[in-house]
Amino acid sequence: MFEADDAKTTLNRRQLLRGQFHQQPLLIRPPWARPEDEFVQLCTRCDACIKACWDEILTRGSGGFPEIRFHSSGCDFCGDCLKACDTGALNAPVPAPSLAWRHRASIESSCLSLNGIVCRSCGDACDTEAISFKLQTRGRATPLLDTERCNGCGECFAVCPNDSISLAIPEAN
Ligand code: SF4
Ligand code: SF4
Ligand code: SF4
Repeated sequence: MFEADDAKTTLNRRQLLRGQFHQQPLLIRPPWARPEDEFVQLCTRCDACIKACWDEILTRGSGGFPEIRFHSSGCDFCGDCLKACDTGALNAPVPAPSLAWRHRASIESSCLSLNGIVCRSCGDACDTEAISFKLQTRGRATPLLDTERCNGCGECFAVCPNDSISLAIPEAN
């Protein structure tokens, strides 16, 4: 049986080189995962999706079930995990990759830019241009996050040097 702490042993090489591990309290299954109760029934913990993920953001989590960890990069929705899974655990029908999961990013008050330190890392990393900056006085710039454009890819979470991005499922979502 898989131990809960085993996820820590699967830190990939990029994580180790980077020497850090962002805290990610929200449990996130692979994209296109069925609702949680169905997912844990269907998933055989075969690791096929984990092996298929070239971004190396999938890892064995609690109970041996796959979880996303946006430690070193985000998800590009390539669909390789989906193709690798033959149990139906990952075949939730969604009309667009942006709906492959429900969580979205948000920016916390600790953001460097909000506190007068020049940083645009999250905006530079966001492919959907969901993050923009509104210039303020004294070198500050307020990051603005468009949740309609955000697809939850996690890239901003991975690159933020200050752990100022959080991921959560919006209440109305
Ligand atoms: S490929 Fe499917 S069945 Fe195998 S671990 Fe991933 S989600 Fe579970
Ligand atoms: S990367 Fe982090 S610190 Fe930098 S602007 Fe974005 S949220 Fe702020
Ligand atoms: S999680 Fe959302 S805001 Fe962050 S990089 Fe991805 S699309 Fe952009």
